[in-house]
Amino acid sequence: MHEYSVAAELVNALLPQVAAVDGQIVGVILKKGEMRILSDHSLISAFEMVSEGTPLQGARLIIELVPVSVSCLTCGYQGAVEHVSDDAFHFSVPILTCPKCQSEVEMKTGRELYVDRLTVRTPMDTDGG
Ligand SMILES: [Zn+2]
Repeated sequence: MHEYSVAAELVNALLPQVAAVDGQIVGVILKKGEMRILSDHSLISAFEMVSEGTPLQGARLIIELVPVSVSCLTCGYQGAVEHVSDDAFHFSVPILTCPKCQSEVEMKTGRELYVDRLTVRTPMDTDGG
């Protein structure tokens, strides 16, 4: 139920912003790093549960995956890592190595978890045809 607490935090953080929005929130676009061990499906249903009875009720949680990218301090390589096995994702935090020189690398992206933007339906949108 880790997803549930994540969703609760998300909704709590969003509510003050949502209060200032003139219109109906129809979508919440969440950026999720590839390294985040969170089930999209559980996160979406937790979000629906938590947002019930709030102005976010009915909004769709849309999860956009942020791929892992690294920077190597040894050879200067920057970019994606070749492949991280699914097993590593599920059982431990994988140690990432440089695809060029096999040194340990610094992770630049892949741990994100933040709301990127909101989709709002304003009354104006429904006026013209
Ligand atoms: Zn390297």
